[in-house]
Amino acid sequence: MEAGSRQGTCWRCGAEARGALVCPGCDAVQPVPADLDYFGALGLPRRLALDVADLERRYHEALRALHPDRFQTATPREQELSLAASALINRARRTLRSPVTRGRYWLELHGDRLGEDNKRVPPTIAAEVFETQEKLEELRAAGSGPAAEALRGEVRALHDGLARRLRAQTDELAARYGAWNGDGDLGELKRRLSEIAYLTTLLGDLEVALGGEETRGTDRRH
Ligand SMILES: [Zn+2]
Repeated sequence: MEAGSRQGTCWRCGAEARGALVCPGCDAVQPVPADLDYFGALGLPRRLALDVADLERRYHEALRALHPDRFQTATPREQELSLAASALINRARRTLRSPVTRGRYWLELHGDRLGEDNKRVPPTIAAEVFETQEKLEELRAAGSGPAAEALRGEVRALHDGLARRLRAQTDELAARYGAWNGDGDLGELKRRLSEIAYLTTLLGDLEVALGGEETRGTDRRH
Protein backbone atom coordinates (compact mmCIF):
# COMPACT_ATOMS: atom_id res chain seq x y z
CA MET A 1 0.00 0.00 0.00
CA GLU A 2 1.86 3.07 1.27
CA ALA A 3 5.54 3.03 0.43
CA GLY A 4 7.73 3.71 3.41
CA SER A 5 5.04 3.29 6.08
CA ARG A 6 3.89 0.23 7.93
CA GLN A 7 0.18 -0.37 7.77
CA GLY A 8 -1.61 1.26 10.69
CA THR A 9 1.10 3.78 11.38
CA CYS A 10 1.23 7.42 10.29
CA TRP A 11 3.06 7.93 6.99
CA ARG A 12 4.61 11.13 8.31
CA CYS A 13 5.53 10.62 11.97
CA GLY A 14 5.21 6.85 12.39
CA ALA A 15 2.73 7.08 15.28
CA GLU A 16 -0.01 4.46 15.65
CA ALA A 17 -2.90 5.68 13.46
CA ARG A 18 -4.85 2.51 12.75
CA GLY A 19 -8.30 3.21 11.32
CA ALA A 20 -7.91 6.97 11.76
CA LEU A 21 -8.33 9.54 8.99
CA VAL A 22 -6.09 11.99 10.81
CA CYS A 23 -2.96 11.04 12.75
CA PRO A 24 -3.53 11.55 16.48
CA GLY A 25 0.16 12.39 16.81
CA CYS A 26 0.82 15.00 14.10
CA ASP A 27 -2.59 15.74 12.46
CA ALA A 28 -1.41 14.49 9.07
CA VAL A 29 -4.30 13.19 6.95
CA GLN A 30 -3.93 9.47 6.38
CA PRO A 31 -4.85 7.37 3.34
CA VAL A 32 -8.42 6.10 3.74
CA PRO A 33 -8.14 2.69 5.43
CA ALA A 34 -9.54 0.01 3.10
CA ASP A 35 -11.79 -1.48 5.78
CA LEU A 36 -13.22 1.79 7.04
CA ASP A 37 -17.02 1.87 6.70
CA TYR A 38 -19.24 4.97 6.83
CA PHE A 39 -19.92 4.55 10.54
CA GLY A 40 -16.23 4.32 11.31
CA ALA A 41 -15.45 7.29 9.05
CA LEU A 42 -17.58 9.49 11.30
CA GLY A 43 -16.53 7.78 14.52
CA LEU A 44 -20.04 6.43 15.06
CA PRO A 45 -20.87 3.06 16.60
CA ARG A 46 -21.86 0.55 13.93
CA ARG A 47 -25.56 0.53 14.69
CA LEU A 48 -28.74 1.16 12.74
CA ALA A 49 -30.07 3.54 15.38
CA LEU A 50 -28.20 6.78 15.44
CA ASP A 51 -28.64 10.28 16.71
CA VAL A 52 -28.70 12.56 13.66
CA ALA A 53 -27.61 15.61 15.69
CA ASP A 54 -24.58 13.64 16.88
CA LEU A 55 -23.86 12.58 13.28
CA GLU A 56 -23.95 16.21 12.14
CA ARG A 57 -21.64 17.29 14.95
CA ARG A 58 -19.11 14.57 14.12
CA TYR A 59 -19.36 15.35 10.43
CA HIS A 60 -18.53 19.03 10.93
CA GLU A 61 -15.75 18.15 13.32
CA ALA A 62 -14.22 15.73 10.84
CA LEU A 63 -14.59 18.23 8.02
CA ARG A 64 -12.76 20.90 10.00
CA ALA A 65 -9.84 18.55 10.55
CA LEU A 66 -9.75 17.62 6.86
CA HIS A 67 -10.74 20.70 4.97
CA PRO A 68 -8.41 21.33 2.03
CA ASP A 69 -8.30 25.05 2.92
CA ARG A 70 -6.20 24.09 5.90
CA PHE A 71 -3.73 22.48 3.53
CA GLN A 72 -3.03 25.31 1.11
CA THR A 73 0.61 25.13 2.09
CA ALA A 74 0.64 21.34 2.15
CA THR A 75 2.26 19.12 -0.44
CA PRO A 76 0.14 17.88 -3.36
CA ARG A 77 0.05 14.45 -1.72
CA GLU A 78 -1.34 15.84 1.53
CA GLN A 79 -3.97 17.81 -0.41
CA GLU A 80 -4.90 14.67 -2.31
CA LEU A 81 -5.28 12.66 0.91
CA SER A 82 -7.36 15.44 2.39
CA LEU A 83 -9.68 15.49 -0.62
CA ALA A 84 -10.11 11.71 -0.56
CA ALA A 85 -10.93 11.73 3.15
CA SER A 86 -13.36 14.66 2.75
CA ALA A 87 -15.14 12.85 -0.07
CA LEU A 88 -15.52 9.81 2.18
CA ILE A 89 -17.02 11.68 5.10
CA ASN A 90 -19.39 13.53 2.75
CA ARG A 91 -20.61 10.21 1.35
CA ALA A 92 -20.87 8.81 4.87
CA ARG A 93 -22.98 11.72 6.09
CA ARG A 94 -25.26 11.67 3.03
CA THR A 95 -25.81 7.93 3.34
CA LEU A 96 -26.28 7.68 7.11
CA ARG A 97 -28.41 10.78 7.64
CA SER A 98 -31.59 9.33 6.13
CA PRO A 99 -33.01 6.17 7.71
CA VAL A 100 -33.77 4.84 4.21
CA THR A 101 -30.29 5.14 2.70
CA ARG A 102 -28.80 4.04 6.04
CA GLY A 103 -30.96 0.91 5.93
CA ARG A 104 -29.89 0.14 2.37
CA TYR A 105 -26.26 0.62 3.34
CA TRP A 106 -26.81 -1.67 6.32
CA LEU A 107 -28.05 -4.38 3.96
CA GLU A 108 -24.95 -3.89 1.82
CA LEU A 109 -22.70 -4.16 4.86
CA HIS A 110 -24.38 -7.50 5.53
CA GLY A 111 -23.91 -8.68 1.96
CA ASP A 112 -27.54 -8.14 1.01
CA ARG A 113 -29.51 -5.71 -1.14
CA LEU A 114 -33.07 -5.04 -2.30
CA GLY A 115 -32.38 -6.56 -5.72
CA GLU A 116 -34.68 -7.75 -8.43
CA ASP A 117 -37.44 -9.19 -6.27
CA ASN A 118 -38.21 -5.58 -5.48
CA LYS A 119 -40.14 -5.50 -8.77
CA ARG A 120 -42.87 -7.58 -7.10
CA VAL A 121 -45.36 -5.33 -5.34
CA PRO A 122 -45.16 -5.95 -1.59
CA PRO A 123 -48.55 -7.45 -0.59
CA THR A 124 -48.97 -4.94 2.25
CA ILE A 125 -49.33 -2.08 -0.23
CA ALA A 126 -50.71 -3.96 -3.24
CA ALA A 127 -54.23 -2.52 -2.96
CA GLU A 128 -52.92 1.03 -2.79
CA VAL A 129 -50.60 0.50 -5.74
CA PHE A 130 -53.39 -1.03 -7.81
CA GLU A 131 -55.79 1.82 -7.04
CA THR A 132 -53.18 4.42 -7.91
CA GLN A 133 -52.20 2.80 -11.20
CA GLU A 134 -55.83 2.46 -12.19
CA LYS A 135 -56.44 6.12 -11.47
CA LEU A 136 -53.39 7.07 -13.52
CA GLU A 137 -54.66 5.01 -16.45
CA GLU A 138 -58.02 6.79 -16.26
CA LEU A 139 -56.28 10.16 -16.20
CA ARG A 140 -54.18 9.29 -19.26
CA ALA A 141 -57.29 8.19 -21.14
CA ALA A 142 -59.40 11.17 -20.08
CA GLY A 143 -57.79 13.83 -22.28
CA SER A 144 -59.11 17.25 -21.25
CA GLY A 145 -62.37 18.74 -20.02
CA PRO A 146 -64.23 18.77 -16.69
CA ALA A 147 -63.99 14.98 -16.23
CA ALA A 148 -60.22 15.12 -16.65
CA GLU A 149 -60.03 17.99 -14.19
CA ALA A 150 -61.95 15.99 -11.60
CA LEU A 151 -59.59 13.07 -12.15
CA ARG A 152 -56.60 15.35 -11.71
CA GLY A 153 -58.05 16.36 -8.37
CA GLU A 154 -58.35 12.72 -7.36
CA VAL A 155 -54.78 12.00 -8.48
CA ARG A 156 -53.57 15.02 -6.54
CA ALA A 157 -55.32 13.70 -3.42
CA LEU A 158 -53.72 10.27 -3.96
CA HIS A 159 -50.36 11.99 -4.30
CA ASP A 160 -50.73 13.88 -1.03
CA GLY A 161 -51.90 10.77 0.80
CA LEU A 162 -48.97 8.79 -0.55
CA ALA A 163 -46.46 11.50 0.40
CA ARG A 164 -47.83 11.44 3.96
CA ARG A 165 -47.73 7.67 4.04
CA LEU A 166 -44.13 7.65 2.85
CA ARG A 167 -43.11 10.09 5.58
CA ALA A 168 -44.89 7.94 8.17
CA GLN A 169 -43.21 4.76 6.88
CA THR A 170 -39.82 6.47 7.05
CA ASP A 171 -40.42 7.69 10.61
CA GLU A 172 -41.61 4.22 11.57
CA LEU A 173 -38.46 2.70 10.09
CA ALA A 174 -36.29 5.03 12.17
CA ALA A 175 -38.32 4.10 15.26
CA ARG A 176 -37.76 0.39 14.52
CA TYR A 177 -34.02 0.99 14.43
CA GLY A 178 -34.24 2.30 17.98
CA ALA A 179 -36.23 -0.74 19.08
CA TRP A 180 -33.86 -3.21 17.41
CA ASN A 181 -30.91 -1.66 19.15
CA GLY A 182 -28.51 -4.10 17.52
CA ASP A 183 -28.15 -5.75 14.15
CA GLY A 184 -31.90 -5.95 13.81
CA ASP A 185 -33.91 -8.25 11.64
CA LEU A 186 -32.54 -8.11 8.08
CA GLY A 187 -35.70 -9.71 6.66
CA GLU A 188 -37.95 -7.10 8.21
CA LEU A 189 -35.54 -4.33 7.24
CA LYS A 190 -35.62 -5.50 3.65
CA ARG A 191 -39.41 -5.74 3.61
CA ARG A 192 -39.81 -2.22 4.98
CA LEU A 193 -37.20 -0.76 2.59
CA SER A 194 -38.88 -2.53 -0.28
CA GLU A 195 -42.25 -0.96 0.59
CA ILE A 196 -40.64 2.45 0.84
CA ALA A 197 -38.84 2.00 -2.50
CA TYR A 198 -42.11 1.01 -4.12
CA LEU A 199 -44.06 3.91 -2.64
CA THR A 200 -41.28 6.30 -3.73
CA THR A 201 -41.51 5.05 -7.32
CA LEU A 202 -45.27 5.37 -7.23
CA LEU A 203 -45.05 8.90 -5.88
CA GLY A 204 -42.66 9.71 -8.74
CA ASP A 205 -45.21 8.36 -11.26
CA LEU A 206 -47.91 10.56 -9.73
CA GLU A 207 -45.64 13.59 -9.88
CA VAL A 208 -44.92 12.96 -13.55
CA ALA A 209 -48.63 12.55 -14.28
CA LEU A 210 -49.36 15.83 -12.51
CA GLY A 211 -46.65 17.55 -14.53
CA GLY A 212 -44.29 18.20 -11.65
CA GLU A 213 -46.61 20.77 -10.03
CA GLU A 214 -46.88 18.70 -6.86
CA THR A 215 -43.20 18.25 -6.19
CA ARG A 216 -42.69 21.68 -4.67
CA GLY A 217 -42.89 21.73 -0.92
CA THR A 218 -42.95 17.98 -0.68
CA ASP A 219 -40.30 16.71 1.67
CA ARG A 220 -39.49 13.22 0.55
CA ARG A 221 -36.38 13.01 2.69
CA HIS A 222 -34.43 10.82 0.35
ZN1 LIG B 1 1.61 11.44 12.39
